[in-house]
Amino acid sequence: MTKWLSGFLLWLCCWPLFANSLDDVRVWPSDDKTRVVLDLAEAPDFSYFLLKSPERLVVDIYKTGQKVKLPLKVDDSPLISKVRNSTPKDKGSIRLVLELKQATKASLFALAPAEGNGHRLVIDLGGDGPTGSPKGSSQASPSVKPPAPVPVKAPAQGRDIVVAIDPGHGGHDPGSIGRHKTYEKHVTLAIAKKLQADINKVPGMSAVLTRSTDTFIEVMDRADIARQKKADILVSIHADSVNSAQPRGASVWVLNNSRAKRVIGKWVDEKDRHSELLGGAAEVLEDTKQEQYLAQALLDMSMDHSRSVGQGIGSTILKELGKVTKLHKNRPQPNSLGVLTAPDIPSVLVETGFISNPEEEKLLANGWHQGRLAGALAQALKEYFTAWPPQGTLFAQQGSKRVHLVSRGESLSVLASRYGTTVSAIRHANSLKSDVLWVGQKLTIPSN
Ligand SMILES: [Zn+2]
Repeated sequence: MTKWLSGFLLWLCCWPLFANSLDDVRVWPSDDKTRVVLDLAEAPDFSYFLLKSPERLVVDIYKTGQKVKLPLKVDDSPLISKVRNSTPKDKGSIRLVLELKQATKASLFALAPAEGNGHRLVIDLGGDGPTGSPKGSSQASPSVKPPAPVPVKAPAQGRDIVVAIDPGHGGHDPGSIGRHKTYEKHVTLAIAKKLQADINKVPGMSAVLTRSTDTFIEVMDRADIARQKKADILVSIHADSVNSAQPRGASVWVLNNSRAKRVIGKWVDEKDRHSELLGGAAEVLEDTKQEQYLAQALLDMSMDHSRSVGQGIGSTILKELGKVTKLHKNRPQPNSLGVLTAPDIPSVLVETGFISNPEEEKLLANGWHQGRLAGALAQALKEYFTAWPPQGTLFAQQGSKRVHLVSRGESLSVLASRYGTTVSAIRHANSLKSDVLWVGQKLTIPSN
């Protein structure tokens, strides 16, 4: 009875301490800024300060309990890598630590409920916001600056798959020109913009363009743009042309093996490019005599990855394009055309049709047909990445939906090695009681 009573009294005395609760943490990274939004039941009473080596932002929220599970890893922000808990000042408060990747400006402000959102504490990192004063303290006030528009498509945690779309030619380079004065550079830009819009509608995917106006960009710079945007795939859009009016149909080109090897050889010699190409691995390599050897090995691995992604996406694109237009070749062709020069970025080059064929010239200049081509490309990319989601993406979180149809001579171990998984994982995913497979059997292939 006494025990129960003291427990009750404890509950009674401490209840008001938890009048507020932290319900969710949401992160919106962009190129130079990252916004972290804390969703709370009530207006927050908070203070914060910045710490050095390593860089951190510490936020104390008083009289608050916590419902959201932390740590939260942030993959795609240049500014922040993680939001975690730390020991709070007292039992009634919570302390959050934002692990930062670099010294950055921080501005914090509370927002009152509006437009379907409850109370929020907004943390803006980077950009031109006011510098976070050490030991700042603030309270919700009606005079805080208005919130920046919050993107509607919010990846809960997994990052977007980034598709870099490259409209071929541009500016003083018109590309091929049809008999009826259709310019390839205009066709490629129109299709690229439609494709970008289609991709941006898919949750978990976003698209960037190497050019969005009629300007000229060097071929090498196009791959660099994709690299800077951390693109998962570079899709270059073109239209074919030959001297004869007959040839027609779409084709897809992928990175040529020997060309890729030559580029890698060159890069291994260019030491100053190592950190750009290998990221963190370059630092580890820096002081070893083995650097060249390891750089070669890493670039080779990266090339193998690029080629298999390019090949897979190329095949899927042809399958989808075949539904909306004639195909010139029904397999991806290896080549070192245009942007197909970067062994470290999966790339495909799509020839959407022959501008030299009068009938196709008409189609390529037609907005409706351009939309169909863009739709087929978007569908193919979505399909491929659903089956093969890159690590850390929303697609990966949603789980891979690969289904394999068993054909003659295939065994679990053959499939496990082909898909980079294990026999027991396939067994488990399909609740198999025996390892005997039959032709035509449908197996779910688990993601790793
Ligand atoms: Zn072209």
